[in-house]
Amino acid sequence: VIALEAVSKEFPSDPPVHALSDVSLVVRPADYLAIVGPSGSGKSTLLNVLGLLDRPSSGSYLLDGIETTRLRDGERTRLRGSRIGFVFQSFHLLSHRSVAENVMLAEVYQSGADKRGRKDRRDRALRALDRVGLSHRVDFLPDRLSGGERQRAAIARALMGGPSLLLCDEPTGNLDSRNTDAVLDLFDDLRDQGLTIVVITHETEVSGRARRRVRITDGILVEE
Ligand code: ATP
Ligand code: MG
Repeated sequence: VIALEAVSKEFPSDPPVHALSDVSLVVRPADYLAIVGPSGSGKSTLLNVLGLLDRPSSGSYLLDGIETTRLRDGERTRLRGSRIGFVFQSFHLLSHRSVAENVMLAEVYQSGADKRGRKDRRDRALRALDRVGLSHRVDFLPDRLSGGERQRAAIARALMGGPSLLLCDEPTGNLDSRNTDAVLDLFDDLRDQGLTIVVITHETEVSGRARRRVRITDGILVEE
């Protein structure tokens, strides 16, 4: 469970930017939430706070009952690695590595990545790829995949740590409508399996498939 209480975020520029103002939000397991709003309104800032990539300036953020704002950086990194997966508009796949290797790389950059062997990592990558329907593309290079397949590979990478929360920033921004549908179908499946999904989007096709929608305008969040 995500519980934001009166979260604000100021960036100390001149003049200071109030990117989030007094945001309160509860997101429960298997919720599917869309965040909409104009450019510069604070959507990515909110996602960065939810993803423990950035700290609020004030307010409280409980993740599964843990008050994250009081944790040290290392504890936040560990919590992020075990509970949160990220998906972005550009897929950030390494072009000279196979799909399976890209998925396995998810853990190389995690501090405290376990020392279980490469075979075990590959097994878990293959399971993640099976979850996203890419078992037939395991040894392909990314440039041989369609856009939708590339995004599904990136989603498999996000699933590697066994997260309960998937945070997505414009995940279908680079996809045509057919590939968008494939990714949205996958989000439905993952939600049915109990994942919580939070997705920033400006596409009505995407926000229309979510269970809830919140709008941010100038850092102020309103549920629709
Ligand atoms: P877009 O739809 O264009 O991605 P957004 O809703 O994601 O926009 P944010 O990236 O959250 O918007 O930015 C919100 C505000 O905070 C903007 O005014 C932005 O310029 C400012 N901002 C974001 N990050 C920083 C930073 N690191 N330092 C200073 N200002 C920042
Ligand atoms: Mg943004």
